[in-house]
Amino acid sequence: MSSLVQVLSCLDGYDPDALHVDKAREAMRACITPIRDTEVVPIRNSLGRVLAQEIVPRINVPAHDNSAMDGYAVRHADIDKPLAEIGSALAGRPFNGSVGPGQCVRIMTGAVMPAGSDTVVIQEVVKRQGDHIVVPPGQKRAQNVRYAGEDLKIGVPVLQPGKLLRPAELGLIASLGIAEVRVKRKLRVAFFSTGDELAAIGKELKAGEVYDSNRYTLHGMLERLGVEIQDLGVVRDDPAALEAALRKAATADAIVTTGGVSVGEADFVKQLMAKLGEVLFWKIAMRPGRPMAFGRIGDAFLFGLPGNPVAVMVTFYQFVRDALLHLSGRSDDYAIPLLNAIAAHNIRKVPGRTEYQRGVLYKDAAEWKVRTTGQQGSGVLRSMAEANCFIVLEHERGAVKAGEQIKVQLMEAVA
Ligand code: AMP
Ligand code: MG
Repeated sequence: MSSLVQVLSCLDGYDPDALHVDKAREAMRACITPIRDTEVVPIRNSLGRVLAQEIVPRINVPAHDNSAMDGYAVRHADIDKPLAEIGSALAGRPFNGSVGPGQCVRIMTGAVMPAGSDTVVIQEVVKRQGDHIVVPPGQKRAQNVRYAGEDLKIGVPVLQPGKLLRPAELGLIASLGIAEVRVKRKLRVAFFSTGDELAAIGKELKAGEVYDSNRYTLHGMLERLGVEIQDLGVVRDDPAALEAALRKAATADAIVTTGGVSVGEADFVKQLMAKLGEVLFWKIAMRPGRPMAFGRIGDAFLFGLPGNPVAVMVTFYQFVRDALLHLSGRSDDYAIPLLNAIAAHNIRKVPGRTEYQRGVLYKDAAEWKVRTTGQQGSGVLRSMAEANCFIVLEHERGAVKAGEQIKVQLMEAVA
């Protein structure tokens, strides 16, 4: 295994002391090889998992030509004359004869097209005359018919390994009659908070203490990524305690820590992490979240996030999420989309770092506008709770004027 430093020496523009956010993401991806282990699970348990096989249909979907509407199955060549109704076709109960010249069959949505018929005329436009029907002019041949294999065709691959399995994929796999799929095993992620000032929730707060909130935001973010989590609690700012925690966590696929990487504390953490594995300390040109550690300890990749609660969430969403999805074997495009919105007011910004301000995207007449949530301090977690998007102010950009177009990333879209 080559060292991380060796891997990164080949990366253009890699500067650990002034790392562009895109480079940080690129650097992590370059160092991480996706996991290989797979398992077979029933499709109901595959939601949110990463597909590890190709899905190739062994049947056509739909399996037969069928009607898209309620109406009459007819022979298009005959519809200028009244047609004799000779039977009916229902979903799951096909008509057993065939439609001859001058004949039609009553048909319901999803029913197999009877032999001899080629077109469906919707019931609303048809006039009845005794046991005959009269079809108005203007019907197109083959209208309202769904063809066999129109959705999925025998032998044509439909899902590739690395695809995230969402409700649509579960249904699609089920439509092929497949009951179990091979998926990548779940990632195991261990995490802990560091800091002598941290108090556990439920306890009385002593002077100078803060409640450990980071472990709860991390719990939520990791849970949503669908990984197996191992919560190692709070670790005091003490080398022996930190070493024990890191050794314990090193059997996971990834370790996420918060706190302890800012300038005042970095030294003992640095020494210790360097002793246990290979860990790089980065200064990322971003706000919030400038200091960050990335490396490898034992079998695990280490993400050492800053301690400030907003910085934790921003660095998680901007880097850890991406790195873990890469590690999990995802091959579809999982980058968070950048969408345009109009700045509702001026926003202060200096060039030379990427900022992730917390914003509220809202509709104003025909336009989508975005405002900040106000106070943007990296300890103001309320700014995350009030936000529905990140306002992404690019590295080169300076101050934003009201009315300018800026980029946003939605925090939730279709859950
Ligand atoms: P650090 O990066 O350890 O210097 O922490 C920076 C700031 O974040 C300090 O004000 C800490 O009190 C705060 N902080 C660190 N860890 C946590 C945590 N787990 N929960 C809430 N705040 C934290
Ligand atoms: Mg600390």
